[in-house]
Amino acid sequence: MLADGIRISQETKILSFQRMNDESTEVKVKFRRGQSLLEEEEVFDVVLFATGRKPNIDNIGCDKAGVQTAKDGVVIDNFMRTTNPSIYSCGDCVPGPNFTHNSDVQARLVVRNALFFGSDKRDQVILPYCTYTDPEVASVGMNEDMLKSEGIQYDTYAKHFEHNDRAICESAKGLYKIHTRRGTDEILGATLVGGPAGDLIGQVTCAMFNKMGLQKMGACVYPYPTYAESFR
Ligand SMILES: Cc1cc2nc3c(=O)[nH]c(=O)nc-3n(C[C@H](O)[C@H](O)[C@H](O)COP(=O)(O)OP(=O)(O)OC[C@H]3O[C@@H](n4cnc5c(N)ncnc54)[C@H](O)[C@@H]3O)c2cc1C
Repeated sequence: MLADGIRISQETKILSFQRMNDESTEVKVKFRRGQSLLEEEEVFDVVLFATGRKPNIDNIGCDKAGVQTAKDGVVIDNFMRTTNPSIYSCGDCVPGPNFTHNSDVQARLVVRNALFFGSDKRDQVILPYCTYTDPEVASVGMNEDMLKSEGIQYDTYAKHFEHNDRAICESAKGLYKIHTRRGTDEILGATLVGGPAGDLIGQVTCAMFNKMGLQKMGACVYPYPTYAESFR
């Protein structure tokens, strides 16, 4: 993204938006970076505001049903059960991450636990993440910051797109990284950047879910030329 000339401003507080005129989409944005007291302003062609989702649980009578709520959603236990044991809750109305695939897996947990209580626990879910930018960025499990902060010893296997023929053909830039527990092939997490990262993170998630190590994953045959070959 940086190579495409995209500037990324983290820890930037937006102070105001102002339309330049009725005929165009141009917007003047006032902002302040980090701890700086300096107010800056810049005119942008268009502003895409794409942040945030929140549970819509006010005034629906949760309290009357004995269902406790908090600021980040309906309070649930590891079996998706609310504080009223006859009521389960899932999706964006329980504390995040708020993704469609998380709502889906939680709904499946609810059905199984409602019919056969105790079958499935929420903390056993291995949830992949994907950001549909160009390049696509996907991850699952623990990243290097998490591993370091938890003091877990790990090895990292990284494949750059310079060595992947499909990426070379498509002039794609990117990198796939997989972390394993030091001295073993147990996959602890992965971060994939570029190519069909969102599709391929499912493959790593599947390996982790089925407790398949990196050695077995790498021993599979991957069609040539594909990005998936990077797993070898
Ligand atoms: C702009 C945007 C982009 C997103 N992109 C992605 C993405 O790329 N990938 C991804 O995984 N997730 C994405 N998400 C998140 C994803 O949409 C949600 O996590 C998912 O839809 C949650 O599913 P849900 O069934 O819990 O809630 P919802 O899909 O929000 O469904 C809740 C339903 O309940 C209804 N409802 C609400 N209140 C009441 C009420 N009082 N009475 C009756 N009905 C009510 C609503 O109308 C709605 O139909 C995105 C969200 C947004 C806003």
